[in-house]
Amino acid sequence: MKTFKPKLFRQQFPLVVNNEGNRLSVNRMPQVESSLPLVYFDNGATTQKPNCVIDSYHSFYHTTNANVHRASHTLSTRATTAFEQARNSIRMFINATSNKEIIWTKGTTESINLIAMSLGRKILKQGDEIILAISEHHANIVPWQLIAEQTGAIIKVVELDATGRVDLSAFELLLNNKTKILCCAHLSNVIAKINPIKELIQKAKSVGAITIIDGAQAVAHFPIDVQVLDCDFYVFSAHKMYGPTGVGVLYGKQALLETMPPYQGGGEMIKQVSFNKPTTFNALPFKFEAGTPNIAGVIAFSKAIEFISTYDAKQICDYEKQLTIYCYQALQNLSASLKNVVNFIVQGLPDIPVISFSLNDHHNHDIATALDSYGIAIRSGHHCAMPLMEYLNISGCLRVSLAAYNTFEEIDYFIDCLKKILTQESDALLVCGNKDDLNEQASAIIIAQFANIKSWDSRHRQIMLLGKQLSRLDKSARNEQTLISGCESLAWLVVQKGKQKTFHFQADSDAKIIRGLLVIVLAAFNNKTAMQINAFDIENYFKTLGLMQHLSPSRGNGVLAIVEEIKKLAQ
Ligand code: PMP
Repeated sequence: MKTFKPKLFRQQFPLVVNNEGNRLSVNRMPQVESSLPLVYFDNGATTQKPNCVIDSYHSFYHTTNANVHRASHTLSTRATTAFEQARNSIRMFINATSNKEIIWTKGTTESINLIAMSLGRKILKQGDEIILAISEHHANIVPWQLIAEQTGAIIKVVELDATGRVDLSAFELLLNNKTKILCCAHLSNVIAKINPIKELIQKAKSVGAITIIDGAQAVAHFPIDVQVLDCDFYVFSAHKMYGPTGVGVLYGKQALLETMPPYQGGGEMIKQVSFNKPTTFNALPFKFEAGTPNIAGVIAFSKAIEFISTYDAKQICDYEKQLTIYCYQALQNLSASLKNVVNFIVQGLPDIPVISFSLNDHHNHDIATALDSYGIAIRSGHHCAMPLMEYLNISGCLRVSLAAYNTFEEIDYFIDCLKKILTQESDALLVCGNKDDLNEQASAIIIAQFANIKSWDSRHRQIMLLGKQLSRLDKSARNEQTLISGCESLAWLVVQKGKQKTFHFQADSDAKIIRGLLVIVLAAFNNKTAMQINAFDIENYFKTLGLMQHLSPSRGNGVLAIVEEIKKLAQ
């Protein structure tokens, strides 16, 4: 077993080390964006990949590529052997009793859907009850809502105790002989406190309920032993634990899996297919693996498992704990020095390196975008846990999620940048003319302003300054009818038809960054005819401004949704 040395461990992650850039201090930001540093603090969403995982793909397609289980030729045998060895590695990693209990899926989401659609549909009847925690990820809510609708089962929701964990006594009150399923995260991707999972499993078993544990966040941070937990199912994704995307695991107790009907039909999951007699199904685990699996991904995942298994898990846990305490305390100190600006979503240190918070008087989206301009990747929004947000009475939050390749220096840099963002509002920069200038010349003025700005943080500040020039929409105009769907923050758009068939748009948002982007978008479209609006090359405009990333469909800010809405209204 290797001693865990943070620096050497970090060296294994090319995307992280190749993009350290010249991040030295917040005052020495690089002026060109190609050398913008990357500080990756979004590991709860997905981790970066070590060389051995990346190399595994290369090597598989160079030396081993063939379909598995089907052919008798040598290459297929080689691929099948590697594929089945990977299954064995995962079995050992979580201490399952048999390889038949390890089913490959696309990820946690598919694993839960498989259980809901196969087992749920089979066992649930009208009035049966499914218990979920209020803090569940949507992946562990929506499949059950779909199945409840089909079967007439009822979803019961257990709330949290003062520490943010599932409340055991509230859970006991919900349990009864109608409880058929408990599906609960080992820990929530927002709250990051380990739920009393063993007690929950035991209590659910006392009424004969099936227990399903969502280990998506847990498995990356501490060892899992499914026999000790004694749950019926445990599900997780490879990509959150240094493995590739598109691969997940469904662990299920063999006896239970044997009773379950197939989830999908197709090749490989059958024993015999006939038009004249009933089709029969393959043995476990293949009964649940219809079609060609993600062979290269599964093998690469086993390399990730090998990679982390060479280190002492406790040393990695300890290092992650030190990072968490350091970051948490730095945020507390920042808060104390800036009039209690930081609100932690729950009190007390998290159990894994995931810290969720919001900042007084600052929209989460503004902060995440401002940090992005310094090369820091954190997550903002509802984190696929809308019911939890509603329960906590917040619209979203910021989340810093660390991994064992992150460093104390990165945390210092993050805190320095955050401090700068929170105190820089009065910085002087070129300002666009007042809003009366938003006429035909407006987009040209904006292009001229951005032409000389080279660094991301200055560009970001320029957007924020533009946002100040947007006159706010009257409260009554910010309503359901004018709300644009597809934006992570709220954004509203109002249209009026002017003389000479021109359109006049007014827009607003609760996030400052979006207000700035709206000025840029409206400058291009206001007082134009439908033909001019449809002919306008918005991509080229954003490219010229150096703001293409704001037009990406993956951006939660939804500028693309706003542009589409403008084009629709102008039809
Ligand atoms: N459950 C939890 C607790 C998660 O954090 C996530 C991913 N954010 C999921 C389920 C879904 O995982 P995937 O998208 O890999 O299917």
